[in-house]
Amino acid sequence: MSADLLQTPVEYLKGVGPKRGELLRKEAGVSTYYDLLTYYPFRHVDRSRFLPINEINSENVYIQLHGKVTDVQLAGKGRSSRLVVSISDATGSIDLVWFQGISWVKDKFTTGSEWVVFGKPTLFSGRYNISHPETETMAEFITQPSDPFHPVYNSSEKMKLNGLSTRAISKITRTLISQVKGVIPETLNNSILNELRLMGREEAFLNIHFPPDSEILEKARARLKFDELFFIQLRLLRYKQNRSEKIRGNIFAKVGDLFNGFYKDYLPFELTNAQKKVIREIRADMGSGRQMNRLLQGDVGSGKTLVALMCMLIALDNGYQACLMAPTEILANQHYATITKLLKGMDVKVDLLTGSTKKSRRREIHPMLQSGELHIIIGTHALIEDAVQFSNLGLVVVDEQHRFGVAQRAKMWSKSEVPPHVLVMTATPIPRTLAMTVYGDLDLSVIDELPPGRKAIKTYHFYESGHEKVYNFMRQQIAGGRQIYVVYPLIEESEMLDLKNLQDGFDHLKQVFPAPQYTLSMVQGRMKADEKDAEMLKFKNGETQIMVATTVIEVGVDVPNASVMVIENAERFGLSQLHQLRGRVGRGADQSHCLLMTGFNLTSDGRIRIETMVRTTDGFEISDVDLKLRGPGDLEGTRQSGILDLKLADIVRDEQLLRAARAIAQKLLDVDPQLLHPDNQRIVRYLDFLKSKTSEWAMIS
Ligand code: ADP
Ligand code: MG
Repeated sequence: MSADLLQTPVEYLKGVGPKRGELLRKEAGVSTYYDLLTYYPFRHVDRSRFLPINEINSENVYIQLHGKVTDVQLAGKGRSSRLVVSISDATGSIDLVWFQGISWVKDKFTTGSEWVVFGKPTLFSGRYNISHPETETMAEFITQPSDPFHPVYNSSEKMKLNGLSTRAISKITRTLISQVKGVIPETLNNSILNELRLMGREEAFLNIHFPPDSEILEKARARLKFDELFFIQLRLLRYKQNRSEKIRGNIFAKVGDLFNGFYKDYLPFELTNAQKKVIREIRADMGSGRQMNRLLQGDVGSGKTLVALMCMLIALDNGYQACLMAPTEILANQHYATITKLLKGMDVKVDLLTGSTKKSRRREIHPMLQSGELHIIIGTHALIEDAVQFSNLGLVVVDEQHRFGVAQRAKMWSKSEVPPHVLVMTATPIPRTLAMTVYGDLDLSVIDELPPGRKAIKTYHFYESGHEKVYNFMRQQIAGGRQIYVVYPLIEESEMLDLKNLQDGFDHLKQVFPAPQYTLSMVQGRMKADEKDAEMLKFKNGETQIMVATTVIEVGVDVPNASVMVIENAERFGLSQLHQLRGRVGRGADQSHCLLMTGFNLTSDGRIRIETMVRTTDGFEISDVDLKLRGPGDLEGTRQSGILDLKLADIVRDEQLLRAARAIAQKLLDVDPQLLHPDNQRIVRYLDFLKSKTSEWAMIS
């Protein structure tokens, strides 16, 4: 069978052999024929063009030139010995340099012989040279198949030195293609191929390596990109379909006294329409008999905590326990405080379990959870520990989801015989394209409205020289009874220096805002939890006016009277972080302000980040810019998922194609949910093949 041929170990391919096979596996992750087929060139070079040597004007781009050898020299000694071959064309000369494999190449270059050279020039002492170029004699070049384009493959130094230059890869790939011709299975059905006018798969493989022209290259790329995106979508949608068919969920059939009682007598304000809408969605989902896996997106301050609480009450009304997990202790403490306050007077037992919960307290909490006496437990990662066992856990709410790994969530599942419903809350708006890919199997609820009476936060950019103005503004605001955050960056790589900056900043602010007129707090991650909490509490209670902090206050902290956020070295923060930090203000009825302080020298990305923050408070717009600046690989939550392992497609640039792929995958499943139709067997076979290649998928949720 054809598929088997594609699974042949690559070493069996003519021209590869065990040694290069091993190298391909280790250096390029290529083990099979199929892997080699999908080891795509990252660009093509026009073979008909030779760059005149005197026109070389930039480093690190591949060029092709030709010329005659004018000189061959062995220079240096021992470790620094190198071979220098000078080549000239009609316009100038350039040195080709080898540091390794010298004995292997040196006899090839006789003076006067004519060579075609391919490689990346680098500038050294004002002169371009090419180290370890790929070379072939003019005679070899002419007798080669006359493709107009040369594919260029990634080839590590080690590969190059061991007979796996980009030319060599191109050669074995050509051999491969001639061998597998006629047996590369089509993976799409005819109706999809026709609808999108896609190139056949085999043709696409041939042309992505050896295209006759750039137009056909593009068509080949589009076809194979579509495959990548389509099969991701199909797998996510099937995974979701499968889960809802197979995994039984606890049925929360009713909304009972707790929910209704809370709604009638304890709710401190009218719910927004958006909150009502998502509670309805969640309720329907939890009552459906399927296990819920839902992502609740709502911008900072949109009131997710209340939604979570009301959903937990539904769980309680049906005789189940619920838990709320937060990424930090500060946040867990705050949720605990908020929720106990909201539930005051009701017959609901709530407790808190974090890393700093004393052993003696734990010994009380564990059995109460196990007996079901405790209804709601709020906490951090500590809840994941094996010692924490429930009587009947019905709902897990995860706040600020991106800090919890997939595996950790999976562990919560196992705490109950029937997996609990899972509600994942995030205030980091996920760009739609990314949500479609990484969370494509989750259902989505969006709170797209802020509680009434909020004024849009005004954001300003100041250079360091504007500090005096900023201090004046702070004095004014404090005189008006407001409180202020001043945030300093802190990253691991420069932690010591950053902590010093924070301390210096704090000392300086104490001088600018002297006691007893002014009071300041400081919080940073290195402090003991109880010290941190004490300072936070002072600020929360209005005992201190200025909170100087690192990003530990980034998530969730809720002090409605704080209306000014000053961010020092704002250029060092990422966009989503800036957005989160800004979300700490604007929680009360007063006009809030965010002041971004930066140095004079901004990188172009830094400038875009600051300008974006000044321009908009829309989390979705901000996350789109963020995705464009950083690329999906860097966004939190995507790396560990393994889903975005795309070779060709780019979820930002190929958004259109991604949307088409999702729509078509959905349509396919609507028409043929089990993929039983004969036309769809190609699709099924390829899905099976993909399944055999990746295991991470079992873990998504
Ligand atoms: P987030 O979605 O960022 O977690 P919170 O749940 O912390 O937001 O809510 C932000 C603030 O808005 C809190 O002070 C909360 O009490 C308040 N809030 C939530 N819902 C409403 C509402 N419907 N009307 C007025 N205020 C609300
Ligand atoms: Mg929150």
